[in-house]
Amino acid sequence: MIQASDILTREDYESQLAEGFRWLRFRPALEAEFQAFRRRTGLGQLRAILLIGIGFGLSFLLLDYVMDGPGFSTAGTWQRTSIIQPLLLGMLAVSYLPRLQWLLTPLGVLTGLTIAATTLLLATVGESRGFGTPVAGLLTVTFYVYLFLGLSFWPALGTAMTILLASVASYLSHGVPAAAIFYNGIWLLFANLIAATALYNLEHSRRREFLEARILDRLANTDHLTGLANREQFERYFETVWQHCAREQQALAIALLDIDHFKRYNDALGHQAGDDCLLRIAAVLRDATRRPLDLAARYGGEEFVLLMPGCSADHAHLAMSRLISRVEALNIEHPDSPTAPRVTISAGVAEVHPHDTERSPQGALQLADEALYSAKAKGRNRVMMARPDREVSLLTGIFHRTADGRVQQTA
Ligand code: GH3
Ligand code: MG
Ligand code: MG
Repeated sequence: MIQASDILTREDYESQLAEGFRWLRFRPALEAEFQAFRRRTGLGQLRAILLIGIGFGLSFLLLDYVMDGPGFSTAGTWQRTSIIQPLLLGMLAVSYLPRLQWLLTPLGVLTGLTIAATTLLLATVGESRGFGTPVAGLLTVTFYVYLFLGLSFWPALGTAMTILLASVASYLSHGVPAAAIFYNGIWLLFANLIAATALYNLEHSRRREFLEARILDRLANTDHLTGLANREQFERYFETVWQHCAREQQALAIALLDIDHFKRYNDALGHQAGDDCLLRIAAVLRDATRRPLDLAARYGGEEFVLLMPGCSADHAHLAMSRLISRVEALNIEHPDSPTAPRVTISAGVAEVHPHDTERSPQGALQLADEALYSAKAKGRNRVMMARPDREVSLLTGIFHRTADGRVQQTA
């Protein structure tokens, strides 16, 4: 699936970064993006961690077999093999099934609780029968829950607190002396504090890095003056959207827009006024490309380009006519324009069917450029359409791709 560049803008990320996220939650749209990112990028690590967990369980099985330990080891062995190992294997399997990946958190919580229950059984039985204080098992489980089940902070904290309370309740019900409960409880509490702080800090930096990476990405892909996508991003997105339209057998409308007599505007009012004018026109373009896959970019100087996948020629014509009217309605005074007393723009639109054309993306852009040229020649402040199949008056070179990927003009 392709993604238009700026569904979320740099400002969205920047304001979240400034606002902070001490409760480890972003605003809803950002949170959804972060969770998807987290699932996508954390899978490799999670699988490695699960394999270690499975290995850990198997080594216990081996230990039980070799040592043929005290009577209660059978119950632990049975639970480890029949419940915990399938749970870990289940998480591993789910990690490979994109539609079920949302199950990873509930399964992680369940696994943590099950491991804790087994350990608790051994610990309390051991404690009440005088086998020392096997709190070590519970400490390990605590760290396992925080750092080894791929859980985020809140589910991990909830699970670990449940385990802590269940341990105390279990010790109490097994008649473990109060001093021993207190001693074990302190160890567990500190283990929780250490691991929870570590996971909190880890998730906090992950979230900050997530925001910073997106801000940098937006900066690198954005034109600094207008805030629209820059030429580089346009080139990349154009390739992607072309392939998308070819696959989906959709039309693609490409519009090139150019401010009329902009050199005279600069000469008459100065470069700063020219920059302000570019900004105001860019805002109109941004507003006009609200559909998720549309893209408006600054092509260079006072030229802009719009990509509208799935847009018919008629619709593109209508959209560009509206855009031209809206720029006129801004009523930016142009003292030296032979076209009108205010700033106007001209547009050239090419409608192509990437699945059914000889043209390369560059060839299609050339077609839009020729339509723009024709709009300028016909008096500016207007839109001209070029359709490769119907518009024979607009002759243009057909750009082919050569076998090694270069683009060559052949006609
Ligand atoms: P036409 O109607 O044929 O398009 O005429 P034009 O004067 O708009 O076209 P031309 O290509 O001759 O001039 C474009 C001008 O745009 C020249 C340049 O000074 C101005 N320009 C390009 N980039 C910027 C910019 O970032 N800021 C400002 N202020 N002006 C710019
Ligand atoms: Mg120009
Ligand atoms: Mg111009």
